[in-house]
Amino acid sequence: MTVFLVGAGPGDAELLTVRASRLLARADVVVHDRLITRDVLALANPSAARFDVGKVPGLAASQQRINELLVALGQDYDCVVRLKGGDPFVFGRGGEEAGALLANGIDVEIVPGITSAFAAPLLAGIPVTHRGLSHGVTVVTGSSVTGSRVDFARLANADLTLVVLMGVERRADIAAELMQGGLVTSTPVAVVEWASTERERCVRCRLDELGATSAQAPAVLVIGAVAGLDVGSVKSFAATWALA
Ligand code: SAH
Repeated sequence: MTVFLVGAGPGDAELLTVRASRLLARADVVVHDRLITRDVLALANPSAARFDVGKVPGLAASQQRINELLVALGQDYDCVVRLKGGDPFVFGRGGEEAGALLANGIDVEIVPGITSAFAAPLLAGIPVTHRGLSHGVTVVTGSSVTGSRVDFARLANADLTLVVLMGVERRADIAAELMQGGLVTSTPVAVVEWASTERERCVRCRLDELGATSAQAPAVLVIGAVAGLDVGSVKSFAATWALA
C-alpha cells in the first residue's frame, strides 16, 4: 500500500542507489519509463508485474492516465515501484504523481536518484563547477512542450555552467539566444548522449557550431568554460591546467 517514487539514475545499474536496488528486488509491481535500461530492470523481482508507461507521449492526458494507474496499483499492492530516469523530481513529474497518490490516501515514499544533469557531464569528464572557472550551475529544460519556455538570453552568464535537458531539438535556437544574450561564440559546449550506457557519446564544439553539430536524444547540453575540460583524461587535464 505504498508507492515508491524511485530515481533510477542515468542508465547504468551500478549508478542506482542501494535503496532503489533493494526496493526493486522486493517490488510487487514496477511501473517504468521508456529510458529505463534493461540492466536496471533486470534487478526487479522476477515475479513483479511490469508496466512500461514510456510509450505514451508526455502530454497532460497521458500523465493523467499514469496517475490513475498508480492510484489503482497503490490500492491493490503492498510495494509499487514507480521507476523514473535520473532523479524522479528533476523534470520527472514526480510532484504530480505524488500529489495524485496522496489525494487518494495512498502512502508515498520518495527515493532520490542520480540526475543526468550532473552525471552525464561528469561521465564525459566535465565537472559542472570548477574553482576559478564556474561559480555555479543552472539546470533548465530546452523543451517548450508545455507552452512556456526558458528565456535563454537572460541566462547568458560566462561565470556559470548551463546544463540543458531535453534541448537537442531546439539546440540551434538555444545557442542563438545565448549569443544574443552576450555569451561569446567560442564558448565551449559538450553534448553528452546516453550517458552511462554502452551508447554513450560526447561531442564537443563551440557555441556557434552547436546548431550544425549532430546530436540525438536523450542528451544533455553542457554550455560554459567547464565544457572545455576533461578531468577523466590526465593528458588533457594537465594541458588545460599546465600541471604537466
Ligand atoms: N529525471 C531525469 C530527467 C528527465 S527529462 C534526470 O534527472 O536525469 C529527460 C531528459 O534527461 C532527456 O531528454 C535528456 O536530456 C536527459 N537524460 C536522461 N538520461 C540521460 C542519459 N543517460 N544521458 C544523457 N541525457 C539523459
